[in-house]
Amino acid sequence: MFEKAQPLLQSYFGYSSFRKGQEQAIRSVLAGNNTICVMPTGGGKSICYQIPALILPGTTIVISPLISLMKDQVDTLVQAGIPATYINSSLKPNETYERVQQAKQGKYKLLYIAPERLESREFIEDLRQMEISLVAVDEAHCISQWGHDFRPSYRQIQQMIRCLPQTPSVLALTATATPRVREDICSLLEIDERNAIITGFERENLSFSVIKGQDRTKFLLDYLKKNNKESGIIYAATRKNVDQLYERLKRENINVAHYHAGMGDEERNREQERFLTDQASVMVATSAFGMGIDKSNIRYCIHWQLPKNMESYYQEAGRAGRDGLKSECIVLYSPQDVQIQRFLIDQSSDRTRMTQELEKLQQMVDYCHTENCLQEFILNYFGETETEPCGRCGNCTDSRTSIDVTKEAQMVMSCVIRMGQRFGKTLTAQVLTGSKNKKVIELGFDRLSTYGIMKDRGVKDVSDFIEFLISQEIIGIEQGTFPTLYVSSKGKDILLGNAQVFRREMVQVKQVSKSDPLFETLRDVRKQIAAQENVPPFVIFSDAALKDMCARLPQTNEEFLQVSGVGEHKLQKYGLEFIQAIRTFKEANPDYRTEIEVESAAPKKTAKTVGDSHLETFSLHQTGLSINEIAEKRNLAVSTIENHLLQCSRDGLAVNFSILVPDTYLPLLEKAVAEAGRERLKPIKELLPEEVSYFMIKVYLYYISK
Ligand code: ADP
Ligand code: ZN
Repeated sequence: MFEKAQPLLQSYFGYSSFRKGQEQAIRSVLAGNNTICVMPTGGGKSICYQIPALILPGTTIVISPLISLMKDQVDTLVQAGIPATYINSSLKPNETYERVQQAKQGKYKLLYIAPERLESREFIEDLRQMEISLVAVDEAHCISQWGHDFRPSYRQIQQMIRCLPQTPSVLALTATATPRVREDICSLLEIDERNAIITGFERENLSFSVIKGQDRTKFLLDYLKKNNKESGIIYAATRKNVDQLYERLKRENINVAHYHAGMGDEERNREQERFLTDQASVMVATSAFGMGIDKSNIRYCIHWQLPKNMESYYQEAGRAGRDGLKSECIVLYSPQDVQIQRFLIDQSSDRTRMTQELEKLQQMVDYCHTENCLQEFILNYFGETETEPCGRCGNCTDSRTSIDVTKEAQMVMSCVIRMGQRFGKTLTAQVLTGSKNKKVIELGFDRLSTYGIMKDRGVKDVSDFIEFLISQEIIGIEQGTFPTLYVSSKGKDILLGNAQVFRREMVQVKQVSKSDPLFETLRDVRKQIAAQENVPPFVIFSDAALKDMCARLPQTNEEFLQVSGVGEHKLQKYGLEFIQAIRTFKEANPDYRTEIEVESAAPKKTAKTVGDSHLETFSLHQTGLSINEIAEKRNLAVSTIENHLLQCSRDGLAVNFSILVPDTYLPLLEKAVAEAGRERLKPIKELLPEEVSYFMIKVYLYYISK
């Protein structure tokens, strides 16, 4: 049956080949196996049941927890010429009745339902009268109590399947399944673990970066200006932050929408709609925004503040680039935010939970400080072992030079000390630059020996430099009625001349995607069609399809069909309009050739080698200190120290294997690896005693691989 799959992929979806994992999943389903498919967001999970739905007789039921997604998904299918519909609580009773009747007559290839439906006996009776060959369970982790979104009604699925006269196959899909959750899904839905298709979590089109020690407002405004044609999300921590940022951006004439739980339903929906339909290009929101958004052309996702853990970060950042085109995920880091997050966690009354949350926050902080590949850091965090530097992230591509700023740092710190460590950034900068400000004079700071020692620089400039020292934790901030500066122990070492400070040049804002006049034209055409059809633009064609049009410049139907994302149905419906727009454009610009690169994953850069920070860790390791002791000494998380040592050993430094992995564990490790395979850490870990850490497993795997 599989021979039919590829031609269907081409004719309905306009794609010429399957992505990693899709073919395997489809083969497994067509062979009648219950199957689980774990793929990252944007990996292309939908195709895994949509193609079988077209091949198998009768109807495929898709269980999806997000009502807001159903409509877009169904619209997308209908646009591709596939009969599909949904039934959920947003419909009026007569609409539901109508759709159920049509479904019983076999009018739909796909029927999307909310899990709550399964609690109705009447509805189960309706299902019994349909011919159902496949049940796809989207967001399948909702079935597990160990998952982060447990939905009790998911527990009805298996019962429903048992009631059906012909037993359909089941396909479970999720982007986030820890081994424990995966086991739950498999046992509850009767899936043999051998029918698990798991692709890596890497998102090859995303590039991660962290901006620190830089003015965030300036960075953000520059960024939005440079990327004003693109869609993006800015996540802020609180409702107040969202409102403030929203007002600020509006004043800059940026086309911005906002969203948080404190707004009324109506306003929130209106704002969301403006963003989905490309009327607003920027969405400023709290983490409440994004569940159930499958807008595919989000080019960047900026975190104005540090997220509270890696799980939320990867989920939120992962909303960028679902269409597979290059996109950016940026964290604007400031140590003050860490203090605020810590403070919030400290309020929690549950002690074990608190410790856990603090550890997770610390890992997020480590992410912001690592000098290694950021994508790799994330993958390792989620338990993948066989990773390589991505060659795309801010760290892999960092070529800035560093300058020695030890002397300036000493000037600032001695000024802070002379002011009694009781004042904030601005006043300190004013004293350093020799300002005649009233407060400076009143407090007698114009008589300090550090008054005006940086007078050749502006207040803003010095203030930014202090911000940099804060980001390096050379200067600390005490949060009182107003924040005051103090010199940290790291700072004291520098003041005494025992350590140096280097500062990198500022990170320059880049354009995520080159602007292209034809692309803009086609975007307008798409927007108009979308408005007529009353669907969001990305449902008509993805950005990826428009870019492929720019590269191919199709002039005929034949050529238009070659475009990735153009199937027969869309050719019939929209071919003429787009071809005409391309022709007109070509006539006016005969020499046009697109500058948009035809997207391919960036070439992998050679592995990043150890930096200063690694060497510092390594030298402490050589003195025989344990990992915990080094972590304490360096004021870094244990996991960071582990990563440093691992990187050192990869780069050929003689890391002391027997200190890291006690001999007593070797036989256990050998057995566990033989049993669970080398690909993923978590299954190995689960076979070992608690005290064997992930790090020991990594070191062991590294050593046996040599
Ligand atoms: P997921 O549900 O895993 O997050 P989707 O199913 O929404 O991902 O797919 C993400 C994007 O990738 C969609 O725009 C989809 O059309 C596109 N896509 C899926 N499969 C392919 C393929 N084989 N070739 C090209 N694009 C694809
Ligand atoms: Zn990288």
